[in-house]
Amino acid sequence: MTINNRHKLKQARRWVVKIGSALLTANGQGLDQLAMRSWVAQMVALTQQGIELILVSSGAVAEGMVRMNITRRPDALHDLQACAAIGQMGLVQAYETHFREHGCKAAQILLTHEDLSDRQRYLNARSTLTTLIEWRVIPVINENDTVATDEIRFGDNDTLAALVANLVDAEALIILTDQEGMFDRDPRHDSAAILLPEVRAMDEGLFAMAGGGGVLGRGGMITKVRAARFAARSGCATVIASGRSDNVLQRLAAGEALGTLLLPDDDRLTARKQWLASHLQTAGRVVLDVGAVKAVTEQGRSLLPVGVKAVEGQFRRGEVVACVDESGRQIAVGLVNYSAEDSKRIIGQASDKISEILGYMSDEELMHRDNMALT
Ligand code: GLU
Repeated sequence: MTINNRHKLKQARRWVVKIGSALLTANGQGLDQLAMRSWVAQMVALTQQGIELILVSSGAVAEGMVRMNITRRPDALHDLQACAAIGQMGLVQAYETHFREHGCKAAQILLTHEDLSDRQRYLNARSTLTTLIEWRVIPVINENDTVATDEIRFGDNDTLAALVANLVDAEALIILTDQEGMFDRDPRHDSAAILLPEVRAMDEGLFAMAGGGGVLGRGGMITKVRAARFAARSGCATVIASGRSDNVLQRLAAGEALGTLLLPDDDRLTARKQWLASHLQTAGRVVLDVGAVKAVTEQGRSLLPVGVKAVEGQFRRGEVVACVDESGRQIAVGLVNYSAEDSKRIIGQASDKISEILGYMSDEELMHRDNMALT
C-alpha cells in the first residue's frame, strides 16, 4: 500500500516557500527573471486561494558574483559578504517588480539565526511577520549576510527557512531546488537512484541518502534534511521539489505528489504545544478566575475573556502570554487572540459583547485551546 499524505498540503494554510541560489540564478547566469516571474505569479495565486505565504529567497551571493563578473565562488568570507550586499539589491528589486505586476506588495526582511534565538528579537520578528501577513504583504526573507555567515558557509538559507517556519507556525515548508526531490542515493552518480515520494523527517537513515552541496548554493540535500527536521519540531511538513516543474506550487497546493514530502512525527497540535512550552518567552500574563483555571486545566477548554480577571504587560495579538491563577502560579502559556490593550477592555465580559466593545471581533476566545500548552 502506498502511503499518501499529500492531502496534508492541501489543508495547509500557512506556507514558507524557500527558493535556492542555483535555481534562482539559472546556475550562476544572473537572476532568472522569467522563472522568478512564474514563481511570483504562482505565489500570488496561492494567496488568492487564502494561503498565507512567506518567501525565503537566497541568490544574493550568486547575483552579486554575476554583477561583479566573478566566475569562481570566492573563498574569503568578506568577499562573499560583499557579493551578498551587492546581489541583494537586484534580488529585492526583481521581487518588487514581479509582485507589483500583480498589484501585490512585498517587504524585505534580513534575519540572522541569532535574531531567532534571542527571545526579544524572536518576538519582534514574529510580530512584524504576522503584521505583514495580516496586511497581505508578502515577506521576502534572506539571511543578513553582512553580519552573519552561517548560511553563506553551510546552508543556502535552508536552516533559516525552517526557523522562519517555526517562528510563524507554518504548516508547510516548500524548498524549491534544482533537483526533483530527494533520492535514495545521489542521482548525479547513480542512474538507478529512486525519488522518495514520502519519508519521515526524523528518519536517521535520510542523512546517509543525502549527498553533498552544489557549487553555487551551499545547500545540498543534507541541509535540507536538517531543515525538514527543524520544521518538524513545530509540526510543519516539508516538501523538497523542483522549482523548474511547471506550476509546482499550484500543483503541490492541489495535493499532487511532486518531489519529496518529509513529514513530522507528531501531529501539528502536539508538536506546536511542545514548541510553545519549551521555546518561547512570554510577553505578558493574564490572571484567570477559579472557574477559568478549572475549565482550562481540567476540561481542556479554551480561555474566554469572561474568565480573566486581569491583564499584565504589553502584548499584541499572536504573542505568547502566560495564564496564571489568582495566586500567580503559571498554569499555561499560549498565543493570545487580542492585544493587551483590547484584552483589558473585554475581560470579564461575555464573548458576544466583544464586537460591541471593540468594534470588531477576531475570535470568541481570548486564547484558543489549540494554541495553549499547559505548564
Ligand atoms: N544568504 C545567501 C544568499 O542569499 C546564501 C547563499 C550562498 O551562500 O550562496 O546568497
